[in-house]
Amino acid sequence: MTLGNALDLLYSEDRLPEKTAVITIDDGYRSIRENAVPLLDKYGYRATIFVPTSHVGGGNYLTWGQIAELQKKGFEIGNHSHSHEYFLNHPKGKIAEKFEEDLKKSHKLFEQHLGGVPDLYAYPFGEYNPEMTEVLKKHGYRAAAAQKSGVICTESNQFALPRFPMNLNYGKPEDFAEKLRMNPLRVVKAEPSDPVVVSGQNPPKLELTVKNSEIYSEGLQCFVGGKRNCSIEHTRKKDRLVIRVSSTDKLASRRTLYTVTASSEDGSRWFWYSHLWIIPEYGE
Ligand SMILES: [Zn+2]
Repeated sequence: MTLGNALDLLYSEDRLPEKTAVITIDDGYRSIRENAVPLLDKYGYRATIFVPTSHVGGGNYLTWGQIAELQKKGFEIGNHSHSHEYFLNHPKGKIAEKFEEDLKKSHKLFEQHLGGVPDLYAYPFGEYNPEMTEVLKKHGYRAAAAQKSGVICTESNQFALPRFPMNLNYGKPEDFAEKLRMNPLRVVKAEPSDPVVVSGQNPPKLELTVKNSEIYSEGLQCFVGGKRNCSIEHTRKKDRLVIRVSSTDKLASRRTLYTVTASSEDGSRWFWYSHLWIIPEYGE
């Protein structure tokens, strides 16, 4: 279903049906219309399409007319910024201002071409910080999608919703099936909350407070960018599990994920959580 539908159900009295998957597509390429839409139509599925407004109508991108048509067919249109730039490359105190300027430009175009402004946002490159989140809240957004893998649950940060990538190296049908079977690691607190790595604190230390009581804590695993070079320890605090994770090496990319997985006591269910770290100084 669309992200908006899923969030409606997740936070309502009606339970979200088991095995619900949300499909989101970023960037608004024409191939959505040519390749994805016929398939989605065939199976009766809808999706959320996140559009960067400055790209619309150019080169390989959908036109506003085509986007309006998709919206009419039941596709949900979300905001993917105006310029699709690296907002975190601006100096720290300037990020909110630059981000808001860009947001207003996109709103003008959405208003003009679709007669309304989206209430869902997907950060370009999945990069965000609390300043950007605050701007979205101020402008009435209900949620924003990041690019860290994971399963959305009621404990998820609504302004950094996880998504499993299903493209390039991750697009195989068997990978998709595996991700569909994942359950959320219910993280009620993640510290630090700002994904931007503080200088002098590389590798960064992450502390998660987790609610799942069914987890086999001795089997907790962590990965740094898919590799096992990290340390993980945990303590029980009443009904909560506190997990501390750190890479054993300095992070060397602009964006790195710490991923924590665990199974249930009986091994029948798997749980997943990813945490994003960003080092803007590393360039693009
Ligand atoms: Zn994008």
